[in-house]
Amino acid sequence: MKAITVEPKKAGSAQLENVSEPDLHYGSVLVEAIAVGVCGTDVEITQGKYGWAPPGATRLVLGHESLGRVIDPGPSNGLKKGDLVVGIVRRPDPVPCPNCAVGEWDMCRNGQYTERGIKQVHGFMSERWRIEPEYAMKIDPTLGILGVLMEPTTVVTKAWEHALAVGRRAFWEPRTVLVTGSGPIGLLAALLGVQQGLEVHVLARTQSGPKPEAVRALGATYHSGRVADLGFAPDIVMECTGVGEVISEAISRIAASGVVCLTGVGHGGPLPTIPMADVASCAVLKNNVVIGSVNANKRHWYKAAEALARADRAWLARLITGRERPEDFAKALGRGAQQIKVVIQFADI
Ligand SMILES: [Zn+2]
Repeated sequence: MKAITVEPKKAGSAQLENVSEPDLHYGSVLVEAIAVGVCGTDVEITQGKYGWAPPGATRLVLGHESLGRVIDPGPSNGLKKGDLVVGIVRRPDPVPCPNCAVGEWDMCRNGQYTERGIKQVHGFMSERWRIEPEYAMKIDPTLGILGVLMEPTTVVTKAWEHALAVGRRAFWEPRTVLVTGSGPIGLLAALLGVQQGLEVHVLARTQSGPKPEAVRALGATYHSGRVADLGFAPDIVMECTGVGEVISEAISRIAASGVVCLTGVGHGGPLPTIPMADVASCAVLKNNVVIGSVNANKRHWYKAAEALARADRAWLARLITGRERPEDFAKALGRGAQQIKVVIQFADI
């Protein structure tokens, strides 16, 4: 079967090649790939900056944002042939640490977790893949291709859960949320904010095109300036850019007792214009909390499936701005600024 593979830590090594059928040790459920979303992590892996092949192998099958159709459910009770499923990405570490031991692999303490398509386990960019029944999440069949948005939705579902849990440490009635960034994570974070009845604002660089249009179609407000020029103090900031200046402005401008949740992974950039001690003073004097959030556990996958099932299908469809064939995977990896989510489509749905 065909698969998109990469030699981790070697830039430009990605290729579509023939590989053997998925090994049974990956799980008893056999799935036909329908589509796999491409994200910044995939781009970093193909640029040689990130990623680990399985032990004993030199190449890794790429892809962690899956959508597939069950070909053979094996002895599983909950799945049947034809079901649409998405594969959970992370697996608990083998020790396991206390958090992995209780199923919170997203909070792994020793870093020895593995991740499909990223860290030591093959991903989902192959014509067929296998998965353990307990890591195969069934999705609402009416979602169709939109089910490929599940994985990024789980990331924001966890971020929201943690931000709200922190806010509830004291009496708290959040009304406004500022989402910084209008990529798939930012837009899905905005969707979840709207679903919770909050007043949602999205701030990003783009001034026109599908991203601002998607924000407005959600009933949220789009801003393209700086956080400092917003004119109000948000109760929650969902930070989805990873840009240092946006982060320090967000911490400086958030409302008293507000929570800044960081989900973007940035690198470098110019030295901060607001000194760190000044940023910290803002947080101290307003009882703010800054939290980081990554990955998701099974509870978040369950909640994300519910959020997607509740969402307007036409709005979700706005997020998939490109579909490429496996042969054209390089086009999918070279996403333009106007693209939101590009998927590689392996089979019709
Ligand atoms: Zn762990």
